[in-house]
Amino acid sequence: MAQMGVIGLPRNYEIFYEALTGTNPALSLEVIALGNRPTQDQLDLVGQKFFALNHGQGIVEQAREILARELEGVASLLRNERSHLERYGKVLDETSSGLNSRTAMSQELLQKIVGVMAVATASTIDHGKQVASTLGDKSSELESVKSKLEEYKKLADTDPLTHIWNRRAFDRRIARIYNDNKGILFSALILADIDRFKDINDRHGHPVGDKILRIIADIFQSSVHRDMFVARTGGEEFALIVEGTTEEATFEIADRVRLLVAQTQLKDIQPGVNYGQVTVSMGVCMASDAESPEDLYAKADRALYRSKLIGRNRVTRYSTIAERQGKNWMLYKKD
Ligand code: GH3
Ligand code: MG
Ligand code: MG
Repeated sequence: MAQMGVIGLPRNYEIFYEALTGTNPALSLEVIALGNRPTQDQLDLVGQKFFALNHGQGIVEQAREILARELEGVASLLRNERSHLERYGKVLDETSSGLNSRTAMSQELLQKIVGVMAVATASTIDHGKQVASTLGDKSSELESVKSKLEEYKKLADTDPLTHIWNRRAFDRRIARIYNDNKGILFSALILADIDRFKDINDRHGHPVGDKILRIIADIFQSSVHRDMFVARTGGEEFALIVEGTTEEATFEIADRVRLLVAQTQLKDIQPGVNYGQVTVSMGVCMASDAESPEDLYAKADRALYRSKLIGRNRVTRYSTIAERQGKNWMLYKKD
């Protein structure tokens, strides 16, 4: 690492350890592609992609350190301010007891007392201003902690390969559907799984497979409304949550995306190579046809499985297979 000008940071050791032991071929390829003098920014990008969680912990650790330092700073500032105010209080006590004394007071003494009060007051105001300005500086540092934690939150919810939402964010989002009746009545889940993706990896290699995953994620993301929730929920599986929709409209969205994927020529992954097309199979289920987030997922998955079974590159509605299962069940009962 030293020969390559790489700083001996724990996160860099982690990248090089993984790259050299070859446990993660895609990571090894990316490190090789960085050449002889990788910059820290380039290494951090690799780290973010392959060790999102560790990187995220790093961000939280940094935020924690800044927060602890700043809180200590604020505490000592307040301690200092308190002792200053106590001193000021003492001056006021002493001067006011002088003023309260019954004995006649010379003009000179009165002026002296007022002078002492004026100096103490000015110094206290001045000190207060300093405290306010230091607190202002601290608050901007705390803003940076806040943005670091926001960065972490985003990272923890983002799929490092495709940069769309990940499974964790999806689980939270799908759970929200069942919080109110409107969600249950007008929301739907679309699940999509790339067809024969294993063959693509086997034929072209894992890095090409990764790039195809990114292209498919981009198609999903860019072909639906900006507010629609698009996630990569597993290896070559994606999910879309549609709100304010009917089953017909959801089916149309899914089928439009399916067609777009099928029509996309996978070119420019490597110059001059055309990898043809990939297709996706999909399953659609309305939230109102399910009892819970888990049930909704399972039913959309059953519809997706049906798409695979009857030939792939198609969309199946859960309601159509539910009917069939209902009839079978009736037949079974009659027997
Ligand atoms: P099916 O049409 O039945 O879905 O066939 P399939 O080959 O897509 O399904 P299978 O579940 O057998 O294989 C999924 C493959 O997806 C296996 C794995 O190599 C690949 N895969 C999963 N995650 C990744 C990834 O992050 N990158 C790459 N390149 N491949 C992945
Ligand atoms: Mg598949
Ligand atoms: Mg799969």
